[in-house]
Parts: sequence; structure tokens; C-alpha cells
Amino acid sequence: MELYSGHINKLIEELSGLPGIGSKSAQRLAFHLINMPKNKVERLAKTILDAKENVRYCKECFTLTDNEICPVCANPKRDHSTIMVVENARDLAAYEKTGKYEGVYHVLHGAISPMLGIGPNDIRLKELITRLEGNVSEVIIATNSSLEGETTAMYISKLIKPTGIRVTRIASGVPVGGDLEYIDEVTLLRALEGRTEI
Ligand code: ZN
Repeated sequence: MELYSGHINKLIEELSGLPGIGSKSAQRLAFHLINMPKNKVERLAKTILDAKENVRYCKECFTLTDNEICPVCANPKRDHSTIMVVENARDLAAYEKTGKYEGVYHVLHGAISPMLGIGPNDIRLKELITRLEGNVSEVIIATNSSLEGETTAMYISKLIKPTGIRVTRIASGVPVGGDLEYIDEVTLLRALEGRTEI
């Protein structure tokens, strides 16, 4: 027996396909949406579509942005010779929130994971190497301290070492397996300041 109408079932199914949304949350969200005024639902749907259609990758650092170049890369006051490598745009946002990092970023959109079949060519690594042809004095590797993050850090370090560019790794102290975005600003800054050459 179907518990709900076909339309609600479909909505619950779509919502539960989103990350972090279990079946209970999906049901709660579905009923919340159904009870919302129609104009609010339309606005939500339009916002999702607008974001999908208008957000793109920054040509320099590959973070998600509304313009060709993101605000960080477009800022002449930032130190463009220091590049911090992060796994995703959320990690970039976490470091930006500290307001203390003055360099620029490179967003990999993932990490190397032999277990999941994600290799160096599946993340934005080639693009990073291309950027190193410019005037770069340091690459700070700020991938997560998970197995994948460490594997990626080692791989990048080996690639960059021969170029003579300084390669550093943010200090451990960032909890193992911890997503950077959940770590408080003080811990992030400490990890950045305590970075060591690898
Ligand atoms: Zn950028």
C-alpha cells in the first residue's frame, strides 16, 4: 500500500537523493514544501534553477562563481604568488571566513582515491600545474587529513618539488578525517601558520 500520494512519494524520493538527507528528513521537507504558499515554492524552485544556470567555475582557481573570475582572483590586493590548494569550494569558504589568508586558492573538486577509482586526472590537477608556469612562490596544500587528502597532498608535492617552488602542508591539528569546513577559524589559522615544508 502506498502511504502517500504518488506526487508526494516522488518528491520524497527526489529529496532523499540529496546528500545528508535521510528518508525521515525527506518526508519532513516534502510536507513542509507542500504546506508552503505557492509563491514561496516558486521562488525556491527559481532560485535553484538560477543558481544551476548561472554559477560557473572561476577560470583561474576553479571555485564556483557568478563571473568569469571569482572575487578572490580578481582582487589585486591578494598575493597571487601564494596558492592554497583545497578540495572543494566549501573549504575555500572556510579559509575566507577567517579573513586572514591573503593568497589565492586552487580548488581541486575532489581528492585522489584509488578505492573509489578517482585518479589524478579526475580532479583539477592539470590546471594547477598550468598555473605554476606563472609567478608562484609557494603552494600550500590544504587538502583534508583523510587518507584521500593525504594521498593527494603527497602526489601534488611530488609533482611540484622538481619545479623548485616551495610546497607546504597545513599543520596536522586538523582532526583526522575532519572536513575543513566544520573546523573553527582558530584551528584553521593555527593549521595555516604551523604549515611545514614537505
Ligand atoms: Zn578564482
